[in-house]
Amino acid sequence: MTHPPDRAPDPIAEGLAPGLIAGDRRALARAITLIESTRAADRPAARALLSAAAATGRQALRIGLTGTPGAGKSTFIEAFGRLLTAQGSRVAVLAVDPSSVRSGGSILGDKTRMPLLARDPAAFIRPSPSGAHLGGVARRTREAVELCEGAGFDVVLIETVGVGQSETLVADLCDVFVLILAPAGGDELQGVKRGIMEVADLILVNKADGDTAAAAQRTLADYAGALRLMRPRAEDPEGFPLAIAVSALTGTGIAEVRATIARLAAWRRAEGHLVARRAGQRRRAFEAEVRARLMDLVAGDAAARTRMERLGQEVAQGLRTPDEAAAEMIARLGAGAGGGRAGGGGA
Ligand code: GDP
Repeated sequence: MTHPPDRAPDPIAEGLAPGLIAGDRRALARAITLIESTRAADRPAARALLSAAAATGRQALRIGLTGTPGAGKSTFIEAFGRLLTAQGSRVAVLAVDPSSVRSGGSILGDKTRMPLLARDPAAFIRPSPSGAHLGGVARRTREAVELCEGAGFDVVLIETVGVGQSETLVADLCDVFVLILAPAGGDELQGVKRGIMEVADLILVNKADGDTAAAAQRTLADYAGALRLMRPRAEDPEGFPLAIAVSALTGTGIAEVRATIARLAAWRRAEGHLVARRAGQRRRAFEAEVRARLMDLVAGDAAARTRMERLGQEVAQGLRTPDEAAAEMIARLGAGAGGGRAGGGGA
């Protein structure tokens, strides 16, 4: 955890950091608002708070959770989160809601969906940031996770709807990835994209109670069968990924989920997989940042924007290959970045 020595103290960050590190939820909420801000003026404080969080060396267990709307994500998180806090853990819930990217609204992470957990002093619930593109949401969520760790939360749950690319994004932010499903007819298995199955560590078939108990057992058998056909992954101990029937409503299976996740995480930690996984995630995050900043350089420079537009048209018309045009774009950007906008970031 080395930091550039020339970083000037930031007054806003200096004010918030002690509360953040002490685990104060209001300080954490304000810190997350700063990292979510798109104002360049907020970035130095955000950066300083992220450094303060990193300097604590604290790490949480990061659990990703995805599932289609109505599968029971919020009911499950409420039950699971309360089990964790009852066991003495502090739990943060962060949401990644790709629909809010389009609509500007926020559905996931809404506190009214988890009323009991929202009132629990050992829990922190944060709705999805809205109004940003998916790449922006990825960065904000990753940074929010880091702030939650700095604030001493033991478990960070990252929730998303199983549509589009958001689950891939969340899978690349967590240590353990959980897919939650509702019971369904036999042909439903194909409805779940293979990609999710490949990144899931645990498949929970929810609503294993009352009228849906039998259907849940059938769905469980289908998925257990499908998982057995999958190629073994180096990151998994014997028997994983596995499927478990649960009822978020009655609490059946919730303790088993807790124990199973703990067992998987302990194994991955002992085998070095957790460290390697996070290292890979950090590297990919760095590369994504570089890509985003290159595009920021273009967006922030009128001449570069014009060139981008012109080259884009030439590529569209078949006058140049995408490769040639990109090479010219980058070469000229490099020349431009040596000038007035050196350092980027608007700091
Ligand atoms: P989400 O959209 O994935 O967050 O799903 P919700 O948690 O809002 O649940 C959707 C509906 O399923 C609600 O009416 C819940 O009460 C119901 N539900 C959630 N979990 C269970 C469960 O374990 N058993 C039964 N029977 N219903 C459940």
